[in-house]
Amino acid sequence: MSDNNEIQKQQIVLTDYFANMIKQGHLAHAYLLTGPKGIGKRALALWVIQGIFCQNKIAGRPCLDCEECRRIASGNHPDVVHVAPDGLSIKVDQIRFLKSEFSKSGIEGKQKTFIIEDADKMTASAANSLLKFLEEPSGTVVAFLLTETVNRILPTIVSRCQVFELTQPSSTQLAAALKKIGVPADKAVILGNLANSLAESEKIAATEDFDKLVQNVCVWYLHILQGDARCFVEVQTSLLPLINNKDDEVILLNLIILLVKNSISVYYGEKDNIFVKFEADFTVLIAGLTAGRVMEAVELVLETRRKLAVNVSFQNVIEALTIDLSQCYHA
Ligand SMILES: [Zn+2]
Repeated sequence: MSDNNEIQKQQIVLTDYFANMIKQGHLAHAYLLTGPKGIGKRALALWVIQGIFCQNKIAGRPCLDCEECRRIASGNHPDVVHVAPDGLSIKVDQIRFLKSEFSKSGIEGKQKTFIIEDADKMTASAANSLLKFLEEPSGTVVAFLLTETVNRILPTIVSRCQVFELTQPSSTQLAAALKKIGVPADKAVILGNLANSLAESEKIAATEDFDKLVQNVCVWYLHILQGDARCFVEVQTSLLPLINNKDDEVILLNLIILLVKNSISVYYGEKDNIFVKFEADFTVLIAGLTAGRVMEAVELVLETRRKLAVNVSFQNVIEALTIDLSQCYHA
C-alpha cells in the first residue's frame, strides 16, 4: 500500500490526470503504460484501479484504506485480473481465461479491470486474441497494458490504447517531495540529486551516518581542491570507516560523482547550490581551475565506477581516485 501512496508523489502529473478522468467518469477502455523497470507502471495502474473501486474516494483519488483499496493492493480483488508472463511469454490460454472471466461479468454489467504485465511478451496468438477483445470494448472494462518496450507490441494493439510514458521525477521534484515530508532543505537537495525515486532517496536518507558521510566527503573534496595532503589520510580516517557494505560504497561514489559534476555547474556560474555549506569555498577554488580539468575529473570518477564494477577493492579504488583527482586539479 505504501507503494501506491508513493505513486502520487512520483507520478504527480499522471495521478492528477487519472484522478480527473475518474472524477468525470471519462476513463478510456485501455491504457498502455510504458517506461523503464521500477518506474511505477504497476503501482500507477493499481492506484487508478483503486480509484475506480474505492468507497471513499476524494476527487477521483483512492483512500488506500477502505476494503476495496486494501483488497486491490493485496491482489485479492475478484474484479481485478492480473496477467503476467507464464515463463517467458504470455500465452493464448491466459488471454482466453481473461476473456472468459470478463464475459461472465459483462452480462451482469459489473465493473471489471485487468492488468497485463510485460505485455510485449504476449505470443502472436495471445496478442491477436487480446486484440479482438479490445476491438469490442464494453463500458464496464478498463484495461492496463504495461511494458518497457512499446515497439515490441503489435501496432494494432497500441492504436487501441491510450499510451502514457512514465518518466523519472527530476531532482527538483524529488527534493520538493522530500522537503514536504520533513527532510531538511539542504539534505533534500543532495538526496534529490542522488536518487531516481522517492523510495530510493528515502532509503539513502535512512542510511546510518549519511549526514556524516556527506560532511566528510565534502571536506575530503575541499582538501583535494586545495591541494591539501590531508585528503590522502582522510580516505582511511573519515571515509572508509563509514562504509559498511556495497550500498554504502555506491552512495559514496555517487556523492563523489555529484561533487565533480557540481563543480562543472559551479565553474560555469550556474548556482545550483547542492552542497550549501561548502559552495562558497568550492566556488573560489574551482574558479582557479580550467574547464578542461573540471571535465577531466568527471571522466576520472566515471572510470572509477567502471573499475568497481569489476570488483577491485573499494579502498584501492578510492585511494587511486584521490591521487588521480589531486593530479588532475593540480598538475
Ligand atoms: Zn478506498
